[in-house]
Amino acid sequence: MSIQLNGEQRGASGSAVIEVRNMATMELIDTVPAATMEDAQKALDAAQAGAKAWARTPIYKRAEIINRFVRHLRAERDELARLLSAENGKTLEQAGWELDTAAAIFEGFVEESKRLFGQTIPLEIQSGLEKDLMITKREPLGVIVGIIPFNFPAELFAHKAGAALAAGNAIIVKPPEDDPLTVTRMAEMLHEAGVPRDVLQIVNGYGEEAGDYLVKSPAVQAVSFTGSTEVGTIIAQNGAKNLSRVFLELGANDAMIVCEDGDLDAAVDHAIFGRLLANGQVCCANKRLLVQQSVYEEFKTKLVEKLAAKRIGHQLEEGTDVGPLINEAAAVKVERQIQYTIGQGATLALGGKRVRQTFIEPTVLEATKDMDIAKDLEIFGPVFALIAFEDLQEAIDIANASQYGLNSSIFTRDIYKAMEGGNQIEAGIVSVNGGTCYRPVCSAFGGYKKSGIGREGTLYTLEELTQIKSIVLRGVM
Ligand code: NAD
Repeated sequence: MSIQLNGEQRGASGSAVIEVRNMATMELIDTVPAATMEDAQKALDAAQAGAKAWARTPIYKRAEIINRFVRHLRAERDELARLLSAENGKTLEQAGWELDTAAAIFEGFVEESKRLFGQTIPLEIQSGLEKDLMITKREPLGVIVGIIPFNFPAELFAHKAGAALAAGNAIIVKPPEDDPLTVTRMAEMLHEAGVPRDVLQIVNGYGEEAGDYLVKSPAVQAVSFTGSTEVGTIIAQNGAKNLSRVFLELGANDAMIVCEDGDLDAAVDHAIFGRLLANGQVCCANKRLLVQQSVYEEFKTKLVEKLAAKRIGHQLEEGTDVGPLINEAAAVKVERQIQYTIGQGATLALGGKRVRQTFIEPTVLEATKDMDIAKDLEIFGPVFALIAFEDLQEAIDIANASQYGLNSSIFTRDIYKAMEGGNQIEAGIVSVNGGTCYRPVCSAFGGYKKSGIGREGTLYTLEELTQIKSIVLRGVM
């Protein structure tokens, strides 16, 4: 595949390419050129012109183009799902869900963009301005840079590109290095549907090179980044130099609280779904399972029993529950984090090993609240940390004893306990009787503390990627 600078399908100006491999077999799927800084600058230059023309394109026309793309996306869903599954490692079924969600996100932004109205404000509320009338409207920001992580490339491309395009901005997207192919294909399909080539550009390449260059450009009005807290912090610093707006969706160590009066079977099922999805590589996975002491053993037994039956295998084969991690280095890191946690005193109740280079067995670790895994150690793999608590207040305190605060959840049949959790837990979403792995397309998704800045979702991002212009008619009233 290629990079798409001003619509040209082409190689980078340098000769470096990034290999994209299926991590179950190590087979080469395709390569993408690694964009140089020169390539990134060309994209920025083209985007300036693209932004102006697209902002003048009426919303109904932008909507027609994006809706044409959505129809095409739905028609090619199964083929794209195979590509996504192969390059990412998530199961084919999950890749299909992700593409369905991506289509719904594009559609959601199109619908909301039609209601991005301003206000008409008679200024008689202020003495001396009685004769003035203020009219507000929302205008696009200009050039947006979207930077995407590997775990949900299609869905997050939809959140960045769908919002930017529906709101009338130009966007340059830097896909993840390990699985850039689905996103690159989706961008081609947007061009085929009619999005001008200088309005949407794909700069494949390395984060520290092409990504860094794009973020530092004074031509960029906003950076929308999803990825680790570590890189997000660098991006915030670089964006600040030009006063670019920076929206950050970052790392997390979400807590799921299981109270003794909760539905234990449902809690076990939600815990497994949320932690095995994308092979454990989800920002809002229930990475910490806080279970009340009185039901702890029962919960653990049920969890271990069900997990032991899960099948590790090739992500494209039917019956596979857990596929490979995104690359070998990621699997080695998870294996080390498991060993580190055992070194801190945790007990291994299941799994614990890396198999065939890139796979991690579903792993259950019995930990205590003082360990790193119970606070800030984010493990990106199918690892379940079990932590016992005595009463609800202790559970809430453990949940909050983290630098992160993306999602959270509480299982209880008591509405007062549910509301206690809802009010006290420091997280963007508190889900009652469901797992933390929960992101409706319209929700105000985003974190407290070091899980991010801003909220992303079809009801919110259009406001973040536009600005208010006030036109005042003086003396007309
Ligand atoms: P990452 O931070 O390593 O990379 C994300 C993207 O940033 C990649 O495209 C990478 O090339 C680019 N990048 C790296 N350095 C850069 C730099 N200096 N300047 C500009 N771009 C740069 O993250 P990852 O490993 O791909 O994803 C995993 C992390 O993302 C986890 O911490 C996870 O929790 C988080 N995440 C958060 C959300 C959320 O919505 N909060 C969603 C998904 C993933």
